[in-house]
Amino acid sequence: MTSFTAELEQRLARWREQNLFRELFRVDSAQGPRIEIGGTIYLNFSSNDYLGLADHPALKHAAQKAIETFGAGAGASRLICGSLAPFHDLEDALAAFKQTEAALTFATGHAAALGTICALFGKDDILILDKLVHACIVDAARLSGAKLRIYDHNDLNDLEEKLKWAAGKYRDQKPACQIMIVTESVFSMDGDRAPLREIVALKEKHGAWLMVDEAHATGIIGQHGRGMADELGVAKQIEIHMGTLGKALGASGGYICGSRLLVDYLMNRARSFVFSTAPVPAAAAAAKAAILIAKSAEGEQRRKNLFQRVAELNSVFKLEKTTSGSAIVPLILGDEKKATDCAARLRAQKVFVPAIRYPTVARNSARLRITLTAAHSAVDIAELISALKISGIQCQFPT
Ligand SMILES: *Cc1c(COP(=O)(O)O)cnc(C)c1O
Repeated sequence: MTSFTAELEQRLARWREQNLFRELFRVDSAQGPRIEIGGTIYLNFSSNDYLGLADHPALKHAAQKAIETFGAGAGASRLICGSLAPFHDLEDALAAFKQTEAALTFATGHAAALGTICALFGKDDILILDKLVHACIVDAARLSGAKLRIYDHNDLNDLEEKLKWAAGKYRDQKPACQIMIVTESVFSMDGDRAPLREIVALKEKHGAWLMVDEAHATGIIGQHGRGMADELGVAKQIEIHMGTLGKALGASGGYICGSRLLVDYLMNRARSFVFSTAPVPAAAAAAKAAILIAKSAEGEQRRKNLFQRVAELNSVFKLEKTTSGSAIVPLILGDEKKATDCAARLRAQKVFVPAIRYPTVARNSARLRITLTAAHSAVDIAELISALKISGIQCQFPT
């Protein structure tokens, strides 16, 4: 016991020295533009609840109704004790929303990535990942045992180089190998977009497959918020569409959309689906209600509000890395301590913005990650800007 304690103390001390120690802030209110922490109300710019649906009456009502009919828990894996109706209703709604043949839902987006990639790829296959893809895709790729190639972020030349090697030299030796590119459409920590059309052209040219993680685009980009692949007209050429139900869709869970064959295969072989108790039916019902809102006039209005807020924030100051095509505004500060200090200074002004550090982003690229939602008002943005100014945070304000 003493050696265990000593070891953990030492490891955490090293972690602290590097300014990487994290802690949880207990929140005593629902997600929204304002949250309560320790009895104080903070203006919240930390949530991925982009459409402001997490606390929406329609989602809460749908969840409550599902609890009344189907109970609090799902009992077992859907393959074991029967598959509750809310999951089927949700998957039908998702497939219709994403205009794919079928959809399969998982407990989280993380579980969707792990289950899907490991079910499809093994040691002779090649996965080619954008350098900035989410940790769950990196974990999945490693666990699958496939050969990994990482291309520089959004760098089509580097991607093509990797594709040429995989589809040439490597495939000559291993004719049965499969090659897949994995990218996000909107990147989670930078808020920038992938050149999806060009990536699709490259994967077709070299006979590879493509998986696109739309975690930060689903619900807010494209017609009805279907995502960026839809907006660019390349959705039909993408083998695997992935996303989460926990961000713009305000609920919880992950999804894979694609062909009926893909879904049948994953239902049989994705271990995070097969060997895991189904999520609570309330989450599925809430996610389905969110999809209906995303497709409605209300959803359209919410997207308009969201991008109005993004424009307001971007118009007043020029960030090192300006993005206007997503709800994520990263303020890159570099030094880890600087990022946590800046976040603390904002909290002192009752503004809650997370400091994002390694291993979520590369070392020395720590940042404040500001996320906007449809539920923010123009006044909220003005307050954020004024708090940033008062904190003396170095982001080039126009003179
Ligand atoms: C959040 C996120 C996930 C994981 O989804 P969860 O439902 O939160 O597990 C996957 N990919 C990206 C890009 C994400 O940002």
